[in-house]
Amino acid sequence: MSEKGSNLSVVKQRNSQLIREIIYENGPVFRTDIAQKLFLSLPTITTNVARLVTAGVLYELPAPEEEDAKQPGRPPVMLDFVPDYAYFAGVELGPYKTSYVLTDLRGKVLANSEQATADPDYDTMLEQVSGGIRDFLAQTPGCEKKLRGVGVCLPGFINIQRGYIHNNLRRSWNNHHLAADLQARIRLPVLIENNIRARAIGCKLFRKDISGDPMLYYFVSYGLGCALIVDGKILRGASAGAGEVGHMVWDPDGPVCEVCGNQGCLDAVASESAILRQCKQLLAAGMPSLLRELCPDPEALSFTDLLNAYEFGDKVASIVVSKAIRSIGLSVANLANFISPKTIVIDSRLFTSPSSQNLVQRTMEQNVFGYDCKDIQLVFLPHDPFGGAIGGTATAIRKFFIEAPDMDE
Ligand SMILES: [Zn+2]
Repeated sequence: MSEKGSNLSVVKQRNSQLIREIIYENGPVFRTDIAQKLFLSLPTITTNVARLVTAGVLYELPAPEEEDAKQPGRPPVMLDFVPDYAYFAGVELGPYKTSYVLTDLRGKVLANSEQATADPDYDTMLEQVSGGIRDFLAQTPGCEKKLRGVGVCLPGFINIQRGYIHNNLRRSWNNHHLAADLQARIRLPVLIENNIRARAIGCKLFRKDISGDPMLYYFVSYGLGCALIVDGKILRGASAGAGEVGHMVWDPDGPVCEVCGNQGCLDAVASESAILRQCKQLLAAGMPSLLRELCPDPEALSFTDLLNAYEFGDKVASIVVSKAIRSIGLSVANLANFISPKTIVIDSRLFTSPSSQNLVQRTMEQNVFGYDCKDIQLVFLPHDPFGGAIGGTATAIRKFFIEAPDMDE
C-alpha cells in the first residue's frame, strides 16, 4: 500500500473509533450532533453509521418529541448501540475474593459469581483464574458467540499496554505478563488493569449522571488509592503508579506500611486493614466494646463486624473509624487542592451511613482552599461487591469494542 493509501486508512480507522466513542458516551444521538462534535462532514458520519446499522451494531430509534422540536426539519431519527450486540467478562482479583461478571455492551450485568481469594503463588493463581473464567462462562450457555474479551483488574502497578504486573502485594505475581498468560489458556482477548482505574473507567462509561471532568475517584477497601480522569483520559503515569495516594507519607512516626515498607503511609492509617488492626489493638488493651459480643475471638474479627459495631455507636469502633474518616477527608481535600476536580467519587463501604458521609464532607469543606465545595459534585457510590469486576468489563468494552481497530470491518 502507498503511504498516501496507508494514511487514508489510518484516518478512516481513527474516525470510526471516534464515532463509536461519541455514540457510546452520548447515545442515543443524532447523526448531525456526531458530525458537529467531531468536526466531520455529515456524509462521513452517514457512511460510517450505515455500515454499523447494517452490521447490527447500531439501531435507529425515533427522537423524543422535545428533542425533535429543538431543530425542526432534522430527520427525527437517533442512533444508539444495540446493547445485546456483544458481551464482555470482567474479573477482579481482590484481596477479599475473586469476582466475575458478564455484561452486555452497556454494562448491564447478565451473570455474576464469587470465589475465594486467588492463590498468592502466580502459577496456581493462573490455573485458578483461567479455570474460574471457563466455569463462569459455562454458566451462561451460548455467551461465547457474543463475547468480545475479558478485562481482569487487580491492585498495584499494572501496565495495561504490556499486560504486565509491575508491583502487587502478592509478590509472586510481580514481573509476569498476566494478560498474555491468561489469553493463552482461555483463548479469548484479555487485558489487565489496576482495579481502581477499572472502577473509574466503569463509572465514566456506565454512569451518565456522573460526568464531571477532572474526576477524582477515591477508593477505600483493604488498601486505599485513587484514580484520576482528566480531559476524558485516565492518568496512569510513567510507571503505571499514578493515584497511589495510599502510599503518600501521612504520619512519619506512624506504623510501617505492609505494602511498601515505608513508615506512616496513609494506607497504614486509614485503609480497612489499618482500621481493623487499630481496633484489635484497642480490644487487646482491654477497652470495653460490643465487638466482644459480635465476635468473641478478636483475631477472627472482620471489617463487617466492625462496621456493624460502628453503626450501633460502639466506642472502640467509633474511635478508629472516625479517625480514619477524618484522615480520608483531609487527603481528599489535599487532592482537591492539587487537581481542582469537578467531580469526586468516593467508593467505600465506610460511607454507607449519613453520619460518616457528613463527617468526611465536613472535613473536606474545612480544608479545601479557595473555592466552595458546592462547586464540586461529590458522589458516594453504594457498596457493590462486584464493582471491580464491572470495572473490568468497562476496560474490556473500551479496548475490544470502542477502540478496536477493525470492529466494523
Ligand atoms: Zn506504603
